[in-house]
Formats: sequence, C-alpha cells, structure tokens
Amino acid sequence: MKNVQHSRRNFLRLAAGATLAASTLGLPRMALAAPFAPDKPATPDAALKELLDGNLRYIRGRLRHPDQRPGRIAEVAKGQHPFAVILGCADSRVPPEVVFDQGLGNLFVVRVAGNIASDDVMGSIEYAVEELNVPLVMVLGHARCGAVTATLNAMDQGATVPAHISSLVEAIKPVAQQVSRDTPDRVDVVVRKNALHAADQLRHESEILHEKLSSGTLKIVSARYNLDDGRVELIG
Ligand SMILES: [Zn+2]
Repeated sequence: MKNVQHSRRNFLRLAAGATLAASTLGLPRMALAAPFAPDKPATPDAALKELLDGNLRYIRGRLRHPDQRPGRIAEVAKGQHPFAVILGCADSRVPPEVVFDQGLGNLFVVRVAGNIASDDVMGSIEYAVEELNVPLVMVLGHARCGAVTATLNAMDQGATVPAHISSLVEAIKPVAQQVSRDTPDRVDVVVRKNALHAADQLRHESEILHEKLSSGTLKIVSARYNLDDGRVELIG
C-alpha cells in the first residue's frame, strides 16, 4: 500500500512536471494534464452519488468534513482534481462545500446570483471539464432566490433595476416570461426552470461540453436546494 501511494505520488509529480515542461515548450498542455485522482469519483454517476451522499450527511448532521485537515493544503498545492463543478447562486445560504460536506480541492465552484450561464461562467466550466477532466456539472438553484424574485418584480412593475443588476435580470427574464403571473409558487417554478435552462445552455451552446456529453464522460444535471431543510433534490 505504501509503495502504491509512493509511486502514485511520483507519478503525479512527473505529470505535473511534464505539464510544466510542455507549457514552457509551447506544446499543448491538455494532452499531458495530470490524471484524475483515483481516490475520488471518476465517473459522472459516482460523482453525483458522492455529492448526494454528502448532502445527506449535511442534513442529518453527520458531517465528515472530508479533505479539510491541515495536510490537505499542501496536497492540493501540487494540483487540483475536483470531481464536480457546481454552478450555484451567490446566495450566502448555499455554499456548495458546506451543503455537500466536501473539502479543499473537491469542488470547482462557479457562483453568480441566479446561477446563470453567462459567457464567463461557461468559460470557467469549460476549463474545469476540459483541463481538469471533471465528470459532472451540477446547476444548483435554490428556494426563494433573490435574483429570480427581483426579475419577477421588475417584470410585474415594469420597473428598471439599478446598474449592473440589470444584466442578471435580463438573463433570467426569458425563462421567467414562460411562467404566467398567476402560477402558484411562481418564484419556485421559475427557480426550477432557470436551473434547467442554464443546464440546457451548457449542453447546447458549448462545443467542449457537448463533445464530452456525447462521449459519456460528462453529465450535466440540475438541482434545487431547499433553504428550509438543506436538502438538494435533482430536477428535470
Ligand atoms: Zn439565489
């Protein structure tokens, strides 16, 4: 076991060195990217299970706080091998590492109010999938999202929202307009549709992600976080 760990460390060190050498020489780095860490889920389904298991630990109060020990800092300083991308809202009540009981280097988190798939967001996710071989992307909306509520209020009142907040509203509006004003639980219906819409955008507007999906090495799912009990449910 010790030998296996030792040789793995050497291999990772070699891989990291090769990546550095390749970038120095101007060679494509992607071909020499470090392999996926074998002690982390390497398939889309295993990654999804790890996330949902972590969320169960969180809501049951049985946290393990994996990969949060002090030695982990030095481990991930050598390179990162996250097993999932979370596109989540910036809302302070939905921090992915906490709600999925994960630690340093496990999740590649992209957070923006309303969990919208803007160009910068999509670029960040493409980087994680292409360069870091992350097998799972989860778009994580949440109950009573402020960005969704602000969009609906702006639409209902025909009001403009101040400054750069308008870019968030404009991104959510096309989804919100599909839901009639008298729909029960309207905010929540739009929250769900918005998370599904962002996932669809990732599937269809990114060549990199589309290719990975076609080869079966990537899965993109949508989910909703319940502010009241902490549970993450898959949607769609
Ligand atoms: Zn939100």
